[in-house]
Amino acid sequence: MSNFVWCHGPNCHTSHTQDRIRGVKGSKVLRTRKVKQTRWNSGSEHFNMYSYFCSNGCYNDFANKYVREVIAIAPRTEALETPINVTRDSQPDRWGSYNTQITTVDNNVG
Ligand SMILES: [Zn+2]
Repeated sequence: MSNFVWCHGPNCHTSHTQDRIRGVKGSKVLRTRKVKQTRWNSGSEHFNMYSYFCSNGCYNDFANKYVREVIAIAPRTEALETPINVTRDSQPDRWGSYNTQITTVDNNVG
């Protein structure tokens, strides 16, 4: 059983690499790479971009070409906020800097 998907990079088949060459002399082509499906890129908890793309470059090409469609899936119309506590050291560290600590507030506690 061959378990693969074709790389979804829109320009994958245009990259000049040895492994993409297919066909016989006189009618050679550069072909889209296969992306082998393994438990590491398509197991239930491992599904990620490497399930569909042969490289970061192909992923970036896809994201740049379809960015409007991708953003339409989950548009951000307002800023998100994370509640925090900010404390500043009362004493300087050994280099004379007063450091600031940021800790997130867990609203689910209490
Ligand atoms: Zn690719």
